[in-house]
Amino acid sequence: MSEPNLTRLAPWVAGVVVAAALVVVIVTTTPWHLIDLPTPNASLDFTTAEIDRQNRFRHELLPWSTTSWVLSVFVPLAIGFSPLGRRLYDALKLRRWYFAVPVLVAALGLLASLITLPTDALAERVTRNYGLSTESWGLWLRDRAVNWVLMSLALIAIALGLIAFAKKWRTWWWAPAAIAAAVLVLGVSFAYPVLVEPRFNDFTSMAPGPQRDEFMQLAAQDGVPVKDVLVADASKRTTALNAYVSGFGSTRRLVVYDTLLNNAPPEQVRLVVAHELGHAAEDDVLHGTLIGAFGAAFSVVLLKLLLGARMSDPRRTALLLALIVAGTTLAAPVQNLVSRRIEARADYHSLQLTKDPKTFIEMQHQLSVTNISGLDPSRWRTWLFATHPTPPERIAMGRAWADKYGTPVPPLVQR
Ligand SMILES: [Zn+2]
Repeated sequence: MSEPNLTRLAPWVAGVVVAAALVVVIVTTTPWHLIDLPTPNASLDFTTAEIDRQNRFRHELLPWSTTSWVLSVFVPLAIGFSPLGRRLYDALKLRRWYFAVPVLVAALGLLASLITLPTDALAERVTRNYGLSTESWGLWLRDRAVNWVLMSLALIAIALGLIAFAKKWRTWWWAPAAIAAAVLVLGVSFAYPVLVEPRFNDFTSMAPGPQRDEFMQLAAQDGVPVKDVLVADASKRTTALNAYVSGFGSTRRLVVYDTLLNNAPPEQVRLVVAHELGHAAEDDVLHGTLIGAFGAAFSVVLLKLLLGARMSDPRRTALLLALIVAGTTLAAPVQNLVSRRIEARADYHSLQLTKDPKTFIEMQHQLSVTNISGLDPSRWRTWLFATHPTPPERIAMGRAWADKYGTPVPPLVQR
C-alpha cells in the first residue's frame, strides 16, 4: 500500500475497530433483560394528591430547566460553527496559542454559565419553593463557580493536548491522542472520588455501631470488598435521599447521604446500600469506565475524520468545543439507556440480597415523593435525561420479583 493511501485509510480502519469494541462492550455488559415486568401504574401506589404535586412541580420547573439546556447546547454550537469562534480568538490578540486557547475556553465557559444563570436561578427557586433545595444562594453560586473552574480546566487540558499532538504529528496525531484520551478516562475515573467529590461535600467515616456493622456484613455476604462506609454532608444542599459507589480498586467507596441516614428507616437504608453493593458486585463503575475509554478514543478518531490537519489550528478551538458539546449531547441517549438498564439490575440485586420487596416498594414510593421525581416523563425527556427507571417502573420491578420469588405485595393505595 502506498504511503498516502495508508494515512487516509488508517483512521477509518481504527474508527471501525474502536466503534466495534465499544458496541461489543456495551452489548455484552448491559443487562437487557432481568425479569418480565407488569405495566407500570403510578395510581396503584401514589395518591392523587401525590401525583398532582409531582406533576405540578415538573410543570413549574421544566420551562426553566429546558431553556437552560437548550441555551447550554445551542449557544456553543452557534459560536463554534460560525466565523464568530475564530473572530473571538483573533480578538484576544494573544500571540502564543497556549495562552490564547485557555483564555478562550475559560471565557466561553463563563459566557455559557452567565447565559444560563437567569433560567437556572428560576429553576432553583422552584426547587426551593417545593422544599427540595436547602442550600443558600451563596452556596449555589459557589457551586456554579467551582463547576465552571473544573469544566474549564478539563476542556483546556483536552484542547491544549489535542492541538499539541496535532502540531507535533501532522498526519498521525490522532493515534497517540486516541490512546492518551483512553488512558486519561481511566485515570480520571480512578481519581474522581479523591479529587472532585471532596470539592463539593465533606465525607466522614461512618461511626461504628450496629447499622455500620450491618452494612459491612451485607457487603461481606455479597462478596464485595468494601473497606469503608462514608457519610456525605448532602443536607447542606438538598433534602434528596441518595447513596452511591464511585471509583474502583483501592478508591472504591460506599457513600451514603446524611439525609438518608437521618430521615429513612433502617430497613430502607439497608435496601439502598444493597442497591449500591449491586453496582459494586456487577463492576458497573469498571464497565462504565471501559465504555468511557473506548468512547474517548472513538471521539478522537472522529475528530481526525471531521477536522483532519485543521486540528492543529488553535483558531478552531470554538469549533472543537462545539463538536464536544454535539458529541456528548448525541451520546447521552445511549449512555442513559445503558444507565437505566444498569440501575434496574442494581434494584434487582437489592431484592435478591434483602428479599424484602415490601420495603423496596414502600421505599421507591417514598423516595419518589421526597425527591419529587417525574412519574411519567415524555419519551424525548427519557432519552435525553433519564438515568434511572421511573419510580412506577422500579415499583413494577419490586412487584414482579415478589410475584416470582417472595410474597406478592398489595397496592399501597387502598381504594
Ligand atoms: Zn444505582
